[in-house]
Amino acid sequence: MKRRDFIKKAGISSVAASSVAAPMIARADTKLKWKMVTTWPKNFPVLGTGANLLAQAITEMTDGRIKVKVYGAGELVPAFEVFDAVSRGTAELGHGAAYYWKGKIEEAQFFSTVPFGMNSQEMTAWLYHGGGMQLWEQTYEPFGVLPAAAGNTTVQMAGWFNKEINSVNDLNGLKMRIPGLGGEVLKRAGGTPVNLPGGELFTSLKTGAIDATEWVGPYNDLAFGLYKAAKYYYYPGWHEPGTTLEALINKKAFDALGKDLQSIVRNACKMVNQEMSTEFTAKNNAALDTLVNKHKVDVRKLPDDVLTKLKALSEEVVSELAGKNPAAKEIYSSYDKFRKQVVAWHEISEKIYYNVR
Ligand code: CA
Repeated sequence: MKRRDFIKKAGISSVAASSVAAPMIARADTKLKWKMVTTWPKNFPVLGTGANLLAQAITEMTDGRIKVKVYGAGELVPAFEVFDAVSRGTAELGHGAAYYWKGKIEEAQFFSTVPFGMNSQEMTAWLYHGGGMQLWEQTYEPFGVLPAAAGNTTVQMAGWFNKEINSVNDLNGLKMRIPGLGGEVLKRAGGTPVNLPGGELFTSLKTGAIDATEWVGPYNDLAFGLYKAAKYYYYPGWHEPGTTLEALINKKAFDALGKDLQSIVRNACKMVNQEMSTEFTAKNNAALDTLVNKHKVDVRKLPDDVLTKLKALSEEVVSELAGKNPAAKEIYSSYDKFRKQVVAWHEISEKIYYNVR
């Protein structure tokens, strides 16, 4: 009797054990093929290769349980349709920047960059530790998309110009490729902003279809050969002081994963976030040297009064955006509170150190 009881109990418990174990076995057997669509030309230095690195990391860390294949801009969908493709599940992953979706979600721009706003270190701190990430997730939730910070350009350059900028008046009528809030600022300064994917910049500038373009910084701009299409290279990148690049994850595909795979996907994004920003910092140095000393590029600082004007217009543009809807207001108030605190701290740490070293 006792023995039978034991067998019975053992039988029950082994059934229970196997039903608990079943999903784990299923996860170990998972063989998923994910597509990653990107806004970047295939294999473009840092931006494209960073997306490749994310795909490779997920594939390797999951030991092939999720195999990710990367598509450059236009291969599966055009650059500016990446968000929609991930939203509708055409691709499980995407890589781009949040300001590209401003036509769909205006407040998403706060998660890429704000003119005269936070730099890369500060942006990442806000996202990871200042509540930014939760707001970003909330913003994309209605679209079935989960965002992750996955790269940062660090401070960009103001761009390549075929006309000298000596005063605010020189911005009048200037046709320039400049995305996001920076574009809106240029518009208020009398210019005409256009949004073109990276792959179209060189030809547009060379043929005179645009008078100026910004792209990223010395390393990426050298790769596109922009110095062959414009006379002047201006700094600083007031419009993009530390642009966060993003990974877009189809929420349904993510929710279907076990906790282990979800953790891998999230942490792979964190790794790439770090990798891309440090690669930009490391490679921009040598590229700037090449542009100046080998290609004899005329590198110039934007005049102070131009920067002052652009800053005033930026404040106007950003506060208008913040007033557009309750979601934008909530994001901006979080962003601005963090910005003020971090600026106060960096005044006596990073900034003073830059000045004295
Ligand atoms: Ca840019």
